[in-house]
Formats: sequence, structure tokens, C-alpha cells
Amino acid sequence: MNVQFIDLKAQLPKIRSEIEERFSKIIDSTAFVCGKEVQEFEETFSELHGVKYTTGLSSGTDGNHLVMLCGEIGMGDEVIVPVNTFIATAEGISHSGATPVFVDVDEKTFNIDVNKIEEKINPQTKAINAVHLFGQPAYLKPIKEIAEKNNLFFIEDAAQAHLAEYYDKRVGGIGDIASWSFYPGKNLGAWGEAGAITTNNEEMYIRAKKLRDHGSGKKYYHDLIGHNYRMSEFQAAVLNVKIKHIGEWTEMRRTNAEKYNALLGEIEQVITPSVLEDVKHVYHLYVVRVKDREKLQNFLKENEIATGLHYPIPLHLTQAYAFLGYKKGDFPVAEKLANEILSLPMYPELTEEQIEYVCEKIKAFYKS
Ligand SMILES: *Cc1c(COP(=O)(O)O)cnc(C)c1O
Repeated sequence: MNVQFIDLKAQLPKIRSEIEERFSKIIDSTAFVCGKEVQEFEETFSELHGVKYTTGLSSGTDGNHLVMLCGEIGMGDEVIVPVNTFIATAEGISHSGATPVFVDVDEKTFNIDVNKIEEKINPQTKAINAVHLFGQPAYLKPIKEIAEKNNLFFIEDAAQAHLAEYYDKRVGGIGDIASWSFYPGKNLGAWGEAGAITTNNEEMYIRAKKLRDHGSGKKYYHDLIGHNYRMSEFQAAVLNVKIKHIGEWTEMRRTNAEKYNALLGEIEQVITPSVLEDVKHVYHLYVVRVKDREKLQNFLKENEIATGLHYPIPLHLTQAYAFLGYKKGDFPVAEKLANEILSLPMYPELTEEQIEYVCEKIKAFYKS
């Protein structure tokens, strides 16, 4: 049996014809950027996450940058960010001119360790980015308290957390602003690059809309030095069709995770994901901690099971961020996790047989 890490073809039959119809209309209209489809998507996405405003963008990475500009953060400022995240979270900070300040993660949830945030706060600290890694919300309540107490701009990186919930509230509207990715492999994915930011703050929304379009609210009247971070109509059309299924797809991911948990729970050498109480995890990735990771990963590969590492190198040890002067040992939890983590195949249409096969092979590996 061959088990892919993610299989985007599996969802095509459900969505293809409606997307093709919408594509055809876009072609007829020749309105290719920020038109009706984008507007429809922004409204639907706001409703879905219980936030007032969504701004459709060209990518999640551009969203990571734009949230900084919305908070007027730049040169000389510091922004707190977990050391275990996709590099785009930190890139957004760096591109604004500010400096990312890394914080170690919590061993249980892989998210930022709340107890290690305050020691990093100084007069330069202007914001904190709580990443909802793998689809599990960060500890939002205590982080929000720290942010309020220290007057920090509170950002959520929700790129992996569509429909995730924290105390019955969907993420994306709990902080001051949130960024999203619709990269094809994300839980809600376009057929190319796309992203968004959400906020309940009207002023910030107006600023975001200007900044994505060369700082202008009205064509050729530029109030700010902006960017071209506009969303494609084609990508919005894909998202408008797929968003109708995201609830069902999320439940399928959760069911798959439960099946994995039940089967892997019996294996001593495997630690299954731990989920906080009062949190809804949406399993963008199903990440376990294992013994003999390298050997297991190779064994699974030989048995046609694809796996991934998210992420093999914590940000402070990447070449890109070497200039910040961190060293090995600075973030012991993230460094330890980097050697133990293994992401197993996860997507809604994964079958019971495939999950059983993956778990059987893992069992077989530790027996031999
Ligand atoms: C995917 C991702 C991004 C970047 O999104 P793109 O749309 O690929 O630019 C940012 N942050 C996190 C946590 C991500 O997983």
C-alpha cells in the first residue's frame, strides 16, 4: 500500500466542476484581481471565523509582513515569536525592519511556552505572535493577559488553524490581528498562492486594504507606501468553492487523528499529540514524538509511507537567523523536539485501511 503525506487529488471530484464554472466566468469578465470572488471570499471567511473584517492577500507570508505594518511595527522594535514555527512567521517580522525574539516552546503542545515570554519583554518589545502550530491554538488567554499588561500588539499566526477553536471561539479574532495562509497544502488551500488577515479593528482593516494595494484606497491616490499583496480572483474562486466543505473536511481530519491516537497509543516508543482542554485542534499536521526517528522514517519510506518533519531545524539554528547570535542549547525543548518529531500522513480523505497500515508498520518497526 502506498500512503502519501497529503493527497490533493482526493478532493477534486467534489469541487472541480464548480471551480471550472467560476473560472470560466472570471475569464469572460476579464476582472482577474480583487473582484467579486475576492469580495465574496472576504465576507464568507469573516463569517466563518466570527471576525468583522477579512483582507484577502497574495500569500500567508505577505500576511505575516502586513500584520507588522498594520501594527506600525518596524526598525528598532522587537517581536516575540516561538522558535519552532515555519520561517515565514519570523520573515514577516524581519521584513518590517523589526527583530524577532525567539521563545522556547511547550513540550506538550509544541506551541510557545507562556512561562518563558515575560523574561524576554523589554522597552523595545512591541508585539507578540502566537502561532497556532499544527492546528492547535496557542495558550491564548494567558498570552492575551501578558500582551495587555505589557501593552503589546497581539498577533495570531493562524496559517495552520482554519476552524480551530479556543474556549468555543474560533481563532483569528482573539488577538488584535491574525494572518492566514491558503497555500495548496493548508487545511483550506487555493490552487496557487493566497493568504489573508483578519481583525475586528476597523482602522486596522482600512490600513490593511490600503497597504495591500500600493497604499491607496482610491486609484492613484497613495496615502501610504504600500505593496502589491492583492489576491487573485482565480484563487478566491477556488476558496469560495472549498470553503463550503471545510467544516466536513475538518471533522474528517479529527476522526483520522482519533484513529491514529487509538492505534498508536499502544506503542510505548510513540508519544501521540496532546491536546489542551477547551481547545479544538484541527490537525493541519499529525505530529508524534518517536524513538529512533531517522530509522523509523526510513523504514516507513521503504514501506511506501511518506512522512515529514515540521520542522527539522528550530529557527535560531537556521543559517538565515545566525546573525542574531543564538547558539545550540538556547532553546532546549525545541531542540529536543526537533530530533523526535515525525509528521504522519494527514488529510481528510485518508482511509481507515491506510491509517491501520501506517500504524501496523510503526508497530512492526519497534518489534524488530
Ligand atoms: C504556511 C505558513 C505560513 C506562510 O504561508 P504562505 O501562504 O505559504 O506564504 C506562515 N506561517 C505558518 C505557520 C505557516 O504554516
